[in-house]
Amino acid sequence: MKKPTLAIVVPCFNEELCIKSTAERLLQVIADLIEKEKVSPESYIYFVDDGSTDTSWDIITELHNQTSAIKGLKFIRNFGNQKALIAGYESVCDLGCDCAVSIDADLQQDEWAIERFIDKFNEGADVVSGIRNSRKTDSFFKKTTAVMFYKLMNLLGAKIPVNHSDFRLISKKALEILKLYPEKYMFLRGFFNEVGLKTAYVNFDVKPRMAGESKFNFVKLMGLALNGITSFSIVPLRIISVLGFIMALFGFVVGTETVIEKIFFNNTPNGWATTIILLCFFGGIQICCLGIIGEYVGQVYREVKARPRYIKDTELK
Ligand code: UDP
Ligand code: MG
Repeated sequence: MKKPTLAIVVPCFNEELCIKSTAERLLQVIADLIEKEKVSPESYIYFVDDGSTDTSWDIITELHNQTSAIKGLKFIRNFGNQKALIAGYESVCDLGCDCAVSIDADLQQDEWAIERFIDKFNEGADVVSGIRNSRKTDSFFKKTTAVMFYKLMNLLGAKIPVNHSDFRLISKKALEILKLYPEKYMFLRGFFNEVGLKTAYVNFDVKPRMAGESKFNFVKLMGLALNGITSFSIVPLRIISVLGFIMALFGFVVGTETVIEKIFFNNTPNGWATTIILLCFFGGIQICCLGIIGEYVGQVYREVKARPRYIKDTELK
């Protein structure tokens, strides 16, 4: 039987300190899998340079000149890790592969777990998701916000395991399906869980970052989370409608009561405090709801402009 061709997709943004040893280690993994006859000798690594401003791309080019098992793509500017991943998936699908595994350039994920991903793929899974054994390496803030985010997503109907990651394998079939989705702001973790392909899970250990600093700051993480929610679920909008209805009902009851008191008892209360409290309370709720609706309007606005997801600068095939 023909062995599957594996493409390892590695998004990188200013990772000059990591790329070289990452490439070496991943080449070792591929060599090992070829030797065990689990993947074909045409397997390769595909770096996506997400608009780095350091020497990352020079290093990738140098590696590509040494071996054709290293290929790469450079974005014209920074588009963010999710788009780098999507670009990687789309490109390796076009270049040719039977399955793709995505892994971070700092190799925080255990690269030797790739063998177990391939085993699951060979058993028939179309999506194999990596689940972290723990979040030891994350800061307290990141850990708590991540757990809150996954809890919220699950409440909203996305069946995403809590310690999910972008370390995953997807088959050629899944890659083709991904290409059918024209959305610009895809939330990949939600997508692969929702689309209904045969999914398997692999647990892996997270290591500390190899070198350099995390490329995710608070603003980027918030953006990712908000995009995850608004691109995946409209439940928050429903909640607003229900909330609005309850508030209207409440207003109607209170209004009727005031009118009855005024007409029949004529004792206009001097409820200054109550007025202010209610004003602030409902004012707050309204602004909050407007904000949520605004997020969705923003999402529609971004999608409707139909700008390209990313712009390629150079590709090394
Ligand atoms: N990354 C990217 N574009 C960005 C930010 C990050 O391609 O705008 C890449 C980064 O190079 C790395 C991966 O995404 O390969 C995960 O980033 P990082 O390790 O900094 O995140 P953390 O592990 O701290 O969550
Ligand atoms: Mg990392």
